[in-house]
Amino acid sequence: MTASSPLINAIAGVRHGFGDKSQLMPETLRPWQDTLAIKKQVHGTHIRPVSMPAEQCGQADGVLTATPGLLLSVLTADCLPLLFARRDGKRIGALHAGWRGLLAGIIEEFAGMLSKDDDPANWVAAIGPAAGPCCYEVSESLVENFLQGLPMIPATIVTPAHRRLDLAAIARFKLNAAGFPAVDDIGHCTICTLSGTAGAVNAAGDGATPAGPAFAYTSFRRNSLQRAVDPTYPTISGRNQHAGLVILP
Ligand SMILES: [Zn+2]
Repeated sequence: MTASSPLINAIAGVRHGFGDKSQLMPETLRPWQDTLAIKKQVHGTHIRPVSMPAEQCGQADGVLTATPGLLLSVLTADCLPLLFARRDGKRIGALHAGWRGLLAGIIEEFAGMLSKDDDPANWVAAIGPAAGPCCYEVSESLVENFLQGLPMIPATIVTPAHRRLDLAAIARFKLNAAGFPAVDDIGHCTICTLSGTAGAVNAAGDGATPAGPAFAYTSFRRNSLQRAVDPTYPTISGRNQHAGLVILP
């Protein structure tokens, strides 16, 4: 059972989900997998409206549609996935917002696109699983870039502890400031959240300590740390999780 947003669940005619390690694509979205837009995420701010199945989008870190039956998703492994739906279920969007995208203004870009013929106040937003402030240690210079680049956000929100960034809190502040009043946060850290059966199952039944905890999400950071210790450890290539949604046809 993958994570979901109560706010989006309450919208009739929209199905969504946040994938995890056990279901990179949430089971509930698989019937539409072939319709996914084909895009290359580059930690930028370009958001592409789509209207055709499997549309070629080039480089894009966000997608937006009003077409029923088109699955939108973003792939993440520590970056922040954001899902959006209009309350009437007629229009949806998805953004890939890591630290680069947040700093560069992908949320403001999306709000600006909507504001041309719509109002963010008509929408709900959901913040998915991402590197949490519990684990997301970064350089002092990156923290400084955030504090200087986003002076409108209180420092205690940007960096709740020394050299930590709180991507979800930054996103929530920006969403509210950009006119989205209704924001859910799944609240899962991709680096440390354990899956439901973590450590509880000892298949051999011999009482031996399990090999290690079972993590719920693919994490670029955790994988990098493992590979630093053991260079033969497999990369996360092809194992990023989808956060996606579709307007039911
Ligand atoms: Zn954590």
